[in-house]
Amino acid sequence: MTPRIPMRIDKIEKPDDQPLVEIRNLRTHFFTDDGVVKAVEGVDLDVYPNRTLCILGESGCGKSIMARSILRIVDNPGRIVDGAITYRASDGRTVDLAKARPGSRALRDIRGQDIAMIFQEPMSSLGPITKIGKQITETLLLHRKITKAEAKETAVEMLNKVGIPKPAERFEAYPFELSGGMRQRAMIAMALSCEPRLLIADEPTTALDVTTQAQILDLIAELKDELAMGVMLITHDLGVVAEVAEDVAVMYMGRVVEKGDVYSIFENPQHPYTQALLESVPRIGSQRRRRLPAIRGMVPHPLARPSGCPFRTRCDHAMAGVCDVNVPELIDVDGAQVACFLHQSERAHG
Ligand code: SF4
Repeated sequence: MTPRIPMRIDKIEKPDDQPLVEIRNLRTHFFTDDGVVKAVEGVDLDVYPNRTLCILGESGCGKSIMARSILRIVDNPGRIVDGAITYRASDGRTVDLAKARPGSRALRDIRGQDIAMIFQEPMSSLGPITKIGKQITETLLLHRKITKAEAKETAVEMLNKVGIPKPAERFEAYPFELSGGMRQRAMIAMALSCEPRLLIADEPTTALDVTTQAQILDLIAELKDELAMGVMLITHDLGVVAEVAEDVAVMYMGRVVEKGDVYSIFENPQHPYTQALLESVPRIGSQRRRRLPAIRGMVPHPLARPSGCPFRTRCDHAMAGVCDVNVPELIDVDGAQVACFLHQSERAHG
């Protein structure tokens, strides 16, 4: 039986808008001297306005590379080798970000203005020797037709909105003068200053204490509602997922193994990997001293990808001659989508 994680809602409405971003068959590979690492291997995902999609999975499952592929900021020797990332602009125009030339005007206009990204480490976005206020106003002046005075006013307003005390004073501060939580807020202020339509947040609260984490997640949720922003939140924390997600995609070795609305995923996980992830969460009220079930084995080395289903080396249900031969595709199962032969054989025989 999978554990119940307290959820804030018990029903998720289907999205009624078109997706902001449609990712289809995305493949991002790294060409190393030792071989090709297939970090993202055929991912299909949709991100909708005013909804949070949480990407869940262990370290090294391809979550961050998938997200960085959207903004074309994958480091060398990685590159997108196949697939489409269709971004739908506010005027209905669509751009395939996977085909856009890195460094092109189209991509630069979208990055920062339409789509913003925040990271676990704020210093990935903030320059160390430039005052916080200058960094935000530069972003605003780059993307908006406003005066310097208006940019300053908006930046101070934004610092205030993200909960930075004395925002006019902090406008003049360098990043090293702020605490970790305040730097995280300043990075969020910079990312949200241009009111992006999509926010990609890569483990934005992992390094923070629980109180600051809760405040920052509340802030993202508030701004999501206020701006009808789509949010892609990358996390390995199931508690965070239960708190903020409408939609969930579970990734393993570069593939989405299960996706659906948060309620279906938590109430009725269907993929053995999702079930194992949920089983490994501690529960209040469970027997003291009871060992938490761990997922057997380790994630295989990326250069030694198993044949067939990538999860088969750790799966208690693996079927010889089936799971080691073919790669399961996502199919619809009870309102979610699952990539597992257990469900495909049920369907064939049921
Ligand atoms: Fe396990 Fe086979 Fe399903 Fe993969 S396809 S998760 S190995 S049962």
